[in-house]
Amino acid sequence: MNLFPFQPLSEYRVHEQAILAAIQRVGESGHYILGPEVAAFEREFAEELGAAQAVGVANGTDALVLALRALGIGAGDTVVTVAHTAVATVAAIELAGATPLLVDIDPGTFTLDANRFADTLKRPGARRIKAVIPVHLYGQPADIVSILEIARQNGLYVIEDCAQAQGATAGGRCVGTFGDAAAFSFYPTKNLGAMGDGGAVTTQDPQVAERVRVLRQYGWRERYISDQPGMNSRLDEMQAAILRVKLPFLKRDNARRRVLAAIYTASLKDSGVTPPPVGPGMGHVFHQYVVRSASRDALASFLKARGVPTTIHYPQPVHRQPAYQGRVEMGGSDLQESERASREVLSLPMHAYLTDEAVQTAAQQVANFEG
Ligand SMILES: *Cc1c(COP(=O)(O)O)cnc(C)c1O
Repeated sequence: MNLFPFQPLSEYRVHEQAILAAIQRVGESGHYILGPEVAAFEREFAEELGAAQAVGVANGTDALVLALRALGIGAGDTVVTVAHTAVATVAAIELAGATPLLVDIDPGTFTLDANRFADTLKRPGARRIKAVIPVHLYGQPADIVSILEIARQNGLYVIEDCAQAQGATAGGRCVGTFGDAAAFSFYPTKNLGAMGDGGAVTTQDPQVAERVRVLRQYGWRERYISDQPGMNSRLDEMQAAILRVKLPFLKRDNARRRVLAAIYTASLKDSGVTPPPVGPGMGHVFHQYVVRSASRDALASFLKARGVPTTIHYPQPVHRQPAYQGRVEMGGSDLQESERASREVLSLPMHAYLTDEAVQTAAQQVANFEG
């Protein structure tokens, strides 16, 4: 038996009957775009998080673009975010017509360093900064309370990138309910995943939600009459129906990820790698279980040779990638912690349908490595 099965397939096996029934229900309804499944999913997802509103869209990148546009951010505006993230975060800022400004991370949590963010706002040219996108990376909430406070003092919008943090909490409250808007992805490997692409914008402000609804469908308020230039970014009925099957298991799956993370952290105590610390009051949902090692590449090869698959999230910070290098703006003189993270991080096998034995095996092999 494969100790490390692929997450989307494991989830499909677990929910197969309910998923097939959902697909059949949509098929027979004849309603495939923006129908009752999307409306119901939006209500259920908002309720799950404690958000006032959720709007289903085509993917997580579009969710960020639509959140930015709904808040009126575009050409001439600068948006602060991090270099240590999925490239989609930065791509979305440019897709909205704005300019990204990359700030370094806190090496402990791998998320936006609130002090460096504050320093960036004191530099020349800072008056173009209109928003900040903290990324709750790997399922660990960013220091959202401090970031919000700094943003409020400076009149900036906060858009949370929650693509990796469905159900994560800070002080008991779900991420995606703190900022002016938040973006979620339902890419199949996320903690809540569709069987294809999907995304959502959440917000506490009904007007922002309404603007996202208009923008996601050609800028229509009324059919065939564009009120403003929009795009096509709809969540489809089939994906919404599948997400509705999986949503009731999100809490249980996240709890299972925490159990597996605790097994890793206990087993790696005396090893040469640094387990991920969890900030005080933070409900980490371990989208990834990421360790640091000064001999990361050797460790990855060692594990691969012993049948333990690993991944690097991410091997190059955004400002070092060909599409952005030499062109993207940086908030400090350098992004040293982002660069160090890209050299040291390693994601060990993690999802809710792994066995204890799989995680114990992976942890044992990490402990066997003599860096
Ligand atoms: C997955 C992801 C996205 C983009 O989501 P898509 O659905 O793939 O467009 C954005 N930000 C982060 C941090 C992600 O992990």
